[in-house]
Amino acid sequence: MKQILILDIEGTLLTTGAGTIHPRPGLKAFLEFVVENFDEIGFYTLLNHQAAKAILTHLSKNDLVPTQLLEPFNYIKGTGFNKDLTYVPGATLDQITLIDDSPSMIVKGQEDRWIQIRSFVPPSRTSAFGQVAAEAEDTELQRVTEVIHSRIPFGH
Ligand SMILES: [Mg+2]
Repeated sequence: MKQILILDIEGTLLTTGAGTIHPRPGLKAFLEFVVENFDEIGFYTLLNHQAAKAILTHLSKNDLVPTQLLEPFNYIKGTGFNKDLTYVPGATLDQITLIDDSPSMIVKGQEDRWIQIRSFVPPSRTSAFGQVAAEAEDTELQRVTEVIHSRIPFGH
């Protein structure tokens, strides 16, 4: 069966703030894994097409996003209110896996297509006094990779 991966951007792959893009740890390895294994990858985001592509292009120039994800750039155009997967063109629901950090974006009846990922919060800046407590490295993209492996029988 054709396998389609739909990715949220903000809070899932990266977090933006104050003009800075904070890529999530493990982003490059995760995107290389999905490019290798899924038949199709799309981006479903509340960011508009232009902003979404600009952010990913910027990360691509830093070798964090494979260029195959940008040419062509598969932007899913939905309602703007949620991530209704019936808006993914040429796909049936059972072919789709959605990775998203926001439960409020998930449409009723499509919960089984969703793998939830914790919202990425970049490590806080070190203050003049140094960091008070060492923050554990975010490993959510590795965890989600394992969940994908457990749910999808690639190559069968
Ligand atoms: Mg999000």
